[in-house]
Amino acid sequence: MNTAKEQHPAARLACGRRNVWDLLSAVEKNQTMAFAEEYKQFLDAGKTEREVITISENLLKKAGFRNLPECTSLKPGDKVYTITRRKALVAAVLGRNPLVEGLHLLGAHIDSPRLDLKPLPLYEEEELVFLKTHYYGGIKKYQWLSIPLALHGVVVKNDGSSIQVIIGENPGDPVFTVNDLLPHLAKDQMEKKMMDAVPGESLNILVGSIPLQDVELKERFKLAVLDLLYRNYGLVEEDFVSAELELVPAWPARDIGLDRSFVGGYGQDDRVCAYTALRACLDISAPERTAVLVLADKEEIGSTGNTGMTAAFLANAIAEIGSRYSPYFSELDLRRTLANSRALSADVNVALDPNYVDVIEKRNTARVGGGLVITKYTGTRGKSGTNDAHAEMVAWVRQLFNRSGIIWQTGELGKVDQGGGGTIAHFLAAHGMDVLDCGVGLLGMHSPFEVASKADIYMAYKGYRAFLASH
Ligand code: MN
Ligand code: MN
Repeated sequence: MNTAKEQHPAARLACGRRNVWDLLSAVEKNQTMAFAEEYKQFLDAGKTEREVITISENLLKKAGFRNLPECTSLKPGDKVYTITRRKALVAAVLGRNPLVEGLHLLGAHIDSPRLDLKPLPLYEEEELVFLKTHYYGGIKKYQWLSIPLALHGVVVKNDGSSIQVIIGENPGDPVFTVNDLLPHLAKDQMEKKMMDAVPGESLNILVGSIPLQDVELKERFKLAVLDLLYRNYGLVEEDFVSAELELVPAWPARDIGLDRSFVGGYGQDDRVCAYTALRACLDISAPERTAVLVLADKEEIGSTGNTGMTAAFLANAIAEIGSRYSPYFSELDLRRTLANSRALSADVNVALDPNYVDVIEKRNTARVGGGLVITKYTGTRGKSGTNDAHAEMVAWVRQLFNRSGIIWQTGELGKVDQGGGGTIAHFLAAHGMDVLDCGVGLLGMHSPFEVASKADIYMAYKGYRAFLASH
């Protein structure tokens, strides 16, 4: 081993890797651990996009953010938020500079892969009652078998009233599950390609087996479940049609490891970035540039719909803010504001897992514990579909992080031609703003139990805060 004294001066020219744990003081280590405790509570309270909106709104209100539609005029330093359909949120801390000089925007998504109930899910077969599902987002279907699932969501009844559903989170609650096939009889299944081994139509949720006592009755097992739903919730079968009911892992977020260095939990893509960005936003007061937080829905299915990043909700929110700043705020002003903005697309990336090194390129893959991950481009094949941030934007962020003591690293989404993916970055960039993907590296991304390093989580919060506070 070289000592520092023996090292050739050229060694300083190389870009080395750092481990956050090496660089944290004892006080910072405690802060890192304490931050993770609050983050786990957030994960447990927000297992659906609607639940994340509710808990985020509560935190924003507590920090003095006001509901934008209720504000008549705004001035620098004011804090506002606005929610679209209970699934997308824009919050802002108004800056001292004119809006048209541009915003500093953090955008994360709050939807996660899961099993959604079909519009008419309930059926009985061989004296067992099931619910049919349609999976949402990119899942490896076998991971959703034989695990306890909780039912979350909302049912809007024919009279317009709605019912919030959470079954399976309290210790006394029942849970649900998708049964797997016993290995004794799985010879044919095991010979199939993993992709075909668990058909989408077999992801059926076990919900009951006690029949109504009238043996003459047709479908008396299914009717018994309907009877329960009616007596407990006032629901009839048609109510499933206007419902959004999601099966998610029933377990809470937990510490992982003897040293408790990781958080394991469901939905960390992308609630790890949503939470750290939210916390950064809560900390900001009267920045130079207006600081904006965007929590978007439907990223996992292409950012579609009126709560997804391709929709107008962000531009609409900025226009509403602008019009309360100045009655003369025009469509042109809105366009200038967005085009002059900088954004971090706050989303997760793959972290190197020594068990699966074949699919990544070691030199350019993020490490767990290596700090906040900057991802210049995502995409598939020849960078198809990516934002690919400009060198100037990457340099600006790099400089900011270096001067602010943020431990960062670069990442990419797997080997060239291995697969790939995307984020909301290119949808933000469509407004003309400069965008860079920047988030936390995950192990087991999109699994029911994703793993993140507490050091990276805390570094994300610090990095996002430095970004919002910068000019
Ligand atoms: Mn994501
Ligand atoms: Mn994802």
